[in-house]
Amino acid sequence: MTAAGLSYWGWGHSHKFPSNEVREGIGTQVAHMLGIIPSMRLTLPSIDKVTLPQPEISVPAELAAIAESSAEARITHTYGKNFRDQVRGFEGNFDNAPDFVVYPTNEDEVAQTLAWASRCSIAVIPFGGGTSVVSGVEPDVSSRYEGRISLDLAKLDKVLEVDTTSRAARIQAGAKGPQIEAQLSEHDLTLRHYPQSFEFSTLGGWIATRAGGHFATVYTHIDDLVQSVRMVTPAGEFVTRRLPASGAGPQPERLVMGSEGALGVITEAWMRVFSRPLSRLQASVHFNGSFDNAVEAVRTIAQAGLYPTNCRLLSAEEARLNFVTDDGSHVLILGFESNDAPRDEWMARALLICTKFGGHCPRGVMRREGRDKADGGAGSAWKAAFLEAPYLQSVLISLGYVVDTFETACTWDRFYSLHAAVTSAVTEAMNRECGGGRISVRFTHVYPDGPAPYYTFIAPGKPGKQIAQWQVIKKAASDALIDNGATITHHHAVGRLHRPWYDRERPPLFAAALRAAKRSMDPANVMNPGVLID
Ligand SMILES: Cc1cc2nc3c(=O)[nH]c(=O)nc-3n(C[C@H](O)[C@H](O)[C@H](O)COP(=O)(O)OP(=O)(O)OC[C@H]3O[C@@H](n4cnc5c(N)ncnc54)[C@H](O)[C@@H]3O)c2cc1C
Repeated sequence: MTAAGLSYWGWGHSHKFPSNEVREGIGTQVAHMLGIIPSMRLTLPSIDKVTLPQPEISVPAELAAIAESSAEARITHTYGKNFRDQVRGFEGNFDNAPDFVVYPTNEDEVAQTLAWASRCSIAVIPFGGGTSVVSGVEPDVSSRYEGRISLDLAKLDKVLEVDTTSRAARIQAGAKGPQIEAQLSEHDLTLRHYPQSFEFSTLGGWIATRAGGHFATVYTHIDDLVQSVRMVTPAGEFVTRRLPASGAGPQPERLVMGSEGALGVITEAWMRVFSRPLSRLQASVHFNGSFDNAVEAVRTIAQAGLYPTNCRLLSAEEARLNFVTDDGSHVLILGFESNDAPRDEWMARALLICTKFGGHCPRGVMRREGRDKADGGAGSAWKAAFLEAPYLQSVLISLGYVVDTFETACTWDRFYSLHAAVTSAVTEAMNRECGGGRISVRFTHVYPDGPAPYYTFIAPGKPGKQIAQWQVIKKAASDALIDNGATITHHHAVGRLHRPWYDRERPPLFAAALRAAKRSMDPANVMNPGVLID
């Protein structure tokens, strides 16, 4: 573990990684449930045994006060948290470590770092919480650079101003989810943005990757919450005006959102904030028939203008793997919340729609009234199930499984053919590479014109071959998404991992325009080279 008690190879707090005994218990349970038993275990790694490559450059005098080149700083800024990152972490392979890490405390220090990097041809990788699952923070850059550094925003973590009249807050980019919510709760406000990585990811990372929150409809994407941004680029500051809306040409914020550190460093943003919810309703609807019935119920709800806060459809396999039910039914978790009058009528209408498609609600509607504290109403049940889930992936990796998730979005008319193609391509790849495996699906977000399906696959790993096995499965999945009219990512971003498929998805002229924008803002091409654009 690191000095801060965090895992340097897996997810989250080290102390939450279970003991060998508990892990073996989980292994037996999962093997029984899946009928898949890996023939290997990974030995838990030790940070003292990691051998790092020699840095290509040392800290220059002008950055000495804000830079750190310790082994721990370099190790903890090498990877994000995808499957391949975690396996390499287990193996003690940190070959792509940055030469050192810079921790600016203000915008001048960011600008100073970018000026030095541009002058000396040093690749700069902006680093928020390091939860990227698409190799967005890995300093895997061409050898034409003289060196590579991480620029960590951790010291810019404050809510600087709150405008209660317009309900907006000025927040620094390095603030993590809990830091933002704790500071906003003093004003009885919430940003109401809860990605599953909430505890460790940052505002800047969310904006740079166009993150999606926990809620299924309406305000859940960070895009909708950004009122204005400040970004420091090698060519100067990019600052937008605070406005509720504007029809003045293409929106400048749109160039910053999703820029993945390739154009500059986001330092702060004015964000739209909300009153904390007063009333919450939740129901689980079970569908015993075909998955299609449940899908049609969800489509009808999504197109009825009801806008549930939660509308998470779990396939029967997904419900079983998540210990929701093992009776073979598909489960739709429906939620409505309000900071005004309760939404009973909306819930009743959504349940009626479900009934028409064969759904039933065995435990009725659960109700919670009153404002919650700093988690903004997510509640302890959500915390337990949603925030703790990523620890399981690290455990399963340690038990020898090749296990990962991927996500997408498509229009409703394409969903069934997409789903069939993805399931068949991934199953075929798992059978070939691993001798078997399981894939399951849920909808994390739903729109009137289409769902965002989120897939999980799990297969037995072969010693020393897990990364190669994973790459084959990931490629089969990604090809199936692009070939069937879906997007390579609904909210996980592009990074280095999704580049080949993103290049197929975006229009060539858009790529040329993006390249031109990068040339204007980053003339020496030092900002996160390899993500989004070359
Ligand atoms: C277990 C788990 C669950 C997840 N759940 C979700 C989810 O529910 N929804 C979702 O959208 N994503 C999710 N993700 C993916 C990830 O958390 C998001 O992409 C998140 O937005 C990244 O934020 P971060 O602060 O960790 O950024 P990092 O991982 O540090 O960086 C991500 C990218 O943004 C760039 N960047 C970071 N900060 C800045 C900045 N200040 N200026 C410019 N560029 C910057 C980096 O260079 C990199 O390219 C999950 C990941 C994991 C591991």
